[in-house]
Amino acid sequence: MIYKVITKNEFKKFINGLIGENQTFGPKQVDRRADGKAVYQFMEVSSFDEMDLNYTVTYSSVKNFFLPFKEELSHFKFSDNDWEQAVEYRVNPRVIVGARPCDINALAILDKILMRGAFPSPYYIARRKNTFLIGMDHEPPEDCFCKSLGHDTVHRGFNLFCEDIGEQYYLTINSSKAFVFLKNVKAGKPTKKDDVKLIERRKLLRESFQARVEVAGLSSVLDIEFKSPVWKKWGDKCLNCGSCAMVCPTCYCYGIEETIDVGMKSSRKERVQYSCNLVDFAQVAGGHNFRPLKEDRLKYRFYHHYRGFAENADDPICVGCNRCGRACLAGINPREVISDLQMEG
Ligand code: SF4
Ligand code: SF4
Repeated sequence: MIYKVITKNEFKKFINGLIGENQTFGPKQVDRRADGKAVYQFMEVSSFDEMDLNYTVTYSSVKNFFLPFKEELSHFKFSDNDWEQAVEYRVNPRVIVGARPCDINALAILDKILMRGAFPSPYYIARRKNTFLIGMDHEPPEDCFCKSLGHDTVHRGFNLFCEDIGEQYYLTINSSKAFVFLKNVKAGKPTKKDDVKLIERRKLLRESFQARVEVAGLSSVLDIEFKSPVWKKWGDKCLNCGSCAMVCPTCYCYGIEETIDVGMKSSRKERVQYSCNLVDFAQVAGGHNFRPLKEDRLKYRFYHHYRGFAENADDPICVGCNRCGRACLAGINPREVISDLQMEG
């Protein structure tokens, strides 16, 4: 990795240059909640000033740029004696500015599963390779527990990462593309003073975390507590809405839908993001449902996130952003569920 420092003014010019050449997305305030708090989302921007880089957290994560809620996998054309299939996964180069460390770490987890796993997704890979990702540090929201899971800092999964050291950003350059992009930009070598400021900034951020979760030994607690009444207590509250999976930066379960157009001349196959909390998630042909109880569905989501299976066996995939806790209308949040389980143990 290569390190540089850049003034905030110069950084703004650099980003405006990127925006001029590429489709670019950044955090924007899109609404206000009933309690007055701003709601942010990553949206397309046409200038640096449209973004709010001091945003707290976006409602959805950057995952949806790589795993959209719905995407066409292929389409078919039928003729009298033949059929043709077309598959398209080309993506135009694009830029995302301002992703937070836990969101980038979530992408690094998805990379392991969807790029380097047993069944790599060419659709995901195309999007990932054609996206220039600029990350940015921030003061954590009060309910974020990413530090407990070791995702408050980031070392991979981005092209460029910016840490705020006052008048300047301390840049970590993590790809040749970022190095080339910065070649004609006024960015210097960090001085000793800059290094000290960086250490102080990181210390300040580490100490700003208010929420935490005890994850030491969590996988064995989950093994032991498989039949715990805690699952029923929280499962009974679940509305089976699937919102938690939709906003989660690492949930990647999906369903496949095939639609034949009226006239029977063409059809399309689409991948739709799905949630293991939805009633029919484990329902198979013939109507049998392997997880008819909501407590079981909720439990399996927790096991996937904190105990792991298949590609992420033994590795938690939760990065601690608490988006699921914020989105859940039933008040189910991972911190309280895990704390209940630890009490059981
Ligand atoms: S806190 Fe919730 S939304 Fe965030 S990564 Fe963990 S399970 Fe997903
Ligand atoms: S958001 Fe809450 S209520 Fe909806 S499925 Fe997830 S845990 Fe259940």
